[in-house]
Amino acid sequence: MKIAVFVNKNKPTGDIETSIIREALLLGYTIDNDHPDVVFFVGGDGTFLRAVHHYLAILDKIKFLGIGNGNLGFFYDFHAEDISKALSALKNDELILSSHSLLEGKLWHKAGFDTIYAVNEIRLENPFHTLDCDVQIDDKHLETYRGNGLVVSSSLGSSAYNKSLGGAVIQHNLSIMELTEIATIQNNFNRSLGSSLILDGQAAIVLTGELETALVGYDNNVINDDHLLRLEIKQSSKVVTVLHSQDYSFIQSLSRSFVK
Ligand code: NAP
Ligand code: MN
Repeated sequence: MKIAVFVNKNKPTGDIETSIIREALLLGYTIDNDHPDVVFFVGGDGTFLRAVHHYLAILDKIKFLGIGNGNLGFFYDFHAEDISKALSALKNDELILSSHSLLEGKLWHKAGFDTIYAVNEIRLENPFHTLDCDVQIDDKHLETYRGNGLVVSSSLGSSAYNKSLGGAVIQHNLSIMELTEIATIQNNFNRSLGSSLILDGQAAIVLTGELETALVGYDNNVINDDHLLRLEIKQSSKVVTVLHSQDYSFIQSLSRSFVK
């Protein structure tokens, strides 16, 4: 089996990377950062997002296994002291697979469109002016939105920005999306749904309007597209697969991250 080690270059990971490589070689794995079967990411949830974007082109061929770097998170349950445990669990097929659809965004301009993918969420935000846009879901008009922006979150992303905005946290195995508003203007002239909207995994969300000065964010990335006419968001056929230890519990991760 070929493994890769992905680290967040901006955060020191001590000798975790070297330890993974050393122990992996001892167990008979080969190191292949370009065509791995399993990517070990070292760091937090943000490092997982970066690792997924780095390997986007070969997502269907790989799985991700996280080694935390001190923090608590959702996408990993092993830490520096568990490296041998993680590697032998991988070898003995003792890990649990969980697969999740990414979100897919199409940024339309006159000449065509660009495609983006996200693990957590796709955001349309305007930090310069009030964002003024029409929200269409499955070809039906929902509202004319006025405010700072809109976030379309996946189940995985529901505990990230979406949660800070008051959106519901969604159990990770549910294949649904959530549309959440950012600082909406609500008065007698402007009115929107006002609550987060949970949508079917098949839903197609289309945002149109004066989008030239809006920013499109996706995970840890932002695009400033001066010619943006329309943003379409749906669930992608691209899937990311994460390996968890057998005692991983989403509820425990929630409790450890946010409650205790
Ligand atoms: P960051 O600014 O380092 O991330 C913000 C925090 O979100 C970090 O504590 C990160 O955990 C955590 N996080 C990321 N994905 C998560 C998830 N699915 N569930 C729970 N927590 C999660 O930036 P980043 O590490 O590049 O992550 C980008 C993400 O940050 C975006 O996708 C967005 O969801 C989130 N974000 C949140 C806010 C907000 O809550 N107000 C604002 C902007 C962006 P780690 O420390 O383990 O990396
Ligand atoms: Mn981070």
